[in-house]
Amino acid sequence: MELFELSWPAVQALDRDTPVVLPIAALEQHGHHLPVFTDSLLLGEVLRRAKPDLDRRVLFAPLQWLGNSEHHLDFPGTMSAAPRTYLDTLRDMAENFLAHGFRRIVFLNGHGGNIVPAQQATFELRQKYRARRDLLLLSTTYWTSGADPVRDVPGLEQRQMGHACEWETSMILRLAPHLVVGDVKAVPDVPFGRAFEPAHRAWVMPDRSTPGHIGLPRFATPEKGEALFAGFAAAVVALMNRVVAWDGREWDA
Ligand SMILES: [Zn+2]
Repeated sequence: MELFELSWPAVQALDRDTPVVLPIAALEQHGHHLPVFTDSLLLGEVLRRAKPDLDRRVLFAPLQWLGNSEHHLDFPGTMSAAPRTYLDTLRDMAENFLAHGFRRIVFLNGHGGNIVPAQQATFELRQKYRARRDLLLLSTTYWTSGADPVRDVPGLEQRQMGHACEWETSMILRLAPHLVVGDVKAVPDVPFGRAFEPAHRAWVMPDRSTPGHIGLPRFATPEKGEALFAGFAAAVVALMNRVVAWDGREWDA
């Protein structure tokens, strides 16, 4: 079900165990060759493919395209909610549904900079409603929603998501090739690097990349993009089926 299509009495009539999915993405630079709306376009397509399997059992809020993209602000065109603003926004979005009795809330994310805020927003809400035993507050990012959603994608060079990389460029080549600028075969590699692993080094994009991408976009193809979309959508459907089937108590569900 699409929230934007419903009247408030229709929402009122829903079973309060209906999972509410809050899709969150971004509008930020994606190198010289991809559009700034890449993350929102890609999450929108993953959702479009996942929705038919979940149609009557899950309530989908509209995609929130403004994300936490502070680390990309050196590049024009990037729009960002500052981290604390974004954290409060996510918490409020989820709390709107908690206030009306919904118990299963899922942030479905499509942007790396939103991972920590989404986890923190659900953490804070769980502490606020700490006496409740019927809440399921989740955050997940589409490329890690399954154990290995890229397992069936042939010929991948990258083993992890980068930025405007082989994976994202492949999916835009599949979804909106007219938005890809120039010949991706000529885009230079930008290695991931390992920084201070296993420590986590805080970064801004110019620490890691001058053109704005990270990874190996020259290996992108629309065929890989199709397989990536299929794998990610299947992972999202499988996860949401678990949320629908949750018995309200089990930890290891
Ligand atoms: Zn991206």
